[in-house]
Amino acid sequence: MGEITEIGWTARHQHDGTVLKGATFNPWHGCVEVSPACAHCYARELGARFGTAWGRNEPRKFFPDKHWNHLQRWDKAMRAKGYIKNIFVASMSDLFEDNDYADPETGQTLDSERGRFFQIVEQTPNLMYLLLTKRPENMTRMAPAHWADAWPPNVAAMTTAENQKYYDLRMLHLLAVPAAVRGVSMEPLLGPVDLGFGDWIRLPVGVRSDIPFNAAYAPAGVYRAQRNPYGALSVVVTNGKLLGVTPDEYEVVSNADWFITGGESGPNARVSHPHWFAGIRDQCEAAGASFFHKQNGEWKPISEMPESEYETYYKPWPAALLRQYSESYLREFASREYKVPVGVVDYHGKFYSIDGPLTGAFEVIDGHVGMQMYRTGKHEAGRLIGGREWNGMPAALGGDLPQTALTTA
Ligand code: SF4
Repeated sequence: MGEITEIGWTARHQHDGTVLKGATFNPWHGCVEVSPACAHCYARELGARFGTAWGRNEPRKFFPDKHWNHLQRWDKAMRAKGYIKNIFVASMSDLFEDNDYADPETGQTLDSERGRFFQIVEQTPNLMYLLLTKRPENMTRMAPAHWADAWPPNVAAMTTAENQKYYDLRMLHLLAVPAAVRGVSMEPLLGPVDLGFGDWIRLPVGVRSDIPFNAAYAPAGVYRAQRNPYGALSVVVTNGKLLGVTPDEYEVVSNADWFITGGESGPNARVSHPHWFAGIRDQCEAAGASFFHKQNGEWKPISEMPESEYETYYKPWPAALLRQYSESYLREFASREYKVPVGVVDYHGKFYSIDGPLTGAFEVIDGHVGMQMYRTGKHEAGRLIGGREWNGMPAALGGDLPQTALTTA
């Protein structure tokens, strides 16, 4: 828990122009990995330092009343100033983890603490809770029953998604949550993602096709629809068949309001191609969704460096070679003496270290060429895309932040 966090996307514009940093709050500590984004879980590494082990059968660390009272205290302070504070919930755990662990001394369980949390949420309207989970499939089931039609206005439902596979899977559940604000954090981003604006639909009741030998059934729920060349929609049903649906059978569902991107940091950070970030930004811009780019990660793309900067990382060489992906270019590129680790990431995310074979590194994939990346460290790598910051936030979270350097974390 931290009353002030440097995580840029939690900061919030106030009515008097102040930009107030957000806070983090954890109902407990501890979690278990669910997808590739968890491989270098920052919380797990931090937890290990304080003796909290990660894993399905490891104890969760619960907290006494003193910890929980912070929420009421922060709410009171915000009310006095007429401010709203954004709270990132569960930076060291996952609020929607399904686990029946019980503390042998206090009897606290994940369910008991979740229930306590939801009650406090309703009593603290001057705090805006950003509930970020990798388990959105549990969100509606674990939320209070009286939230079934509408979540409180001071709650944003958010999931994280690192690539297309997890985005498509998790959005089916996130978009079923009746929250006023829905968001997606794509950090670490591990591949290009098609956000599918306009493709999300909901079937209020199940739809059946009784075509002989090709019967199919789509239960009620949210789907990512496929569109044929004539604009008609189909959904993929559990047996893998495509089932056509008509406008009277579906409702269009709005995509998330907010997308956050970021590259990975830490000693084993994976490399994100900068065009993945730019692609998500462009889709958000076209659809009118808010876009926030948190950080480039540990590796800085040459596309965000002026010549004067990248020349500091190696011995100078002719600029014309930068655009030649020939054998001589590769030889030239590989023969330089670099001061930091360097390589090329292709659009699929395959990383070619400068110390290994580079053949194929600059192949054009889906129209995108491999990008030279320099391991400058997180702070040097910064948070620019196309030379500027992207600080978009939905109005319910305070609106866009100014174009000033927010500290990354
Ligand atoms: S879900 Fe979050 S807290 Fe849990 S292991 Fe994955 S990254 Fe870590």
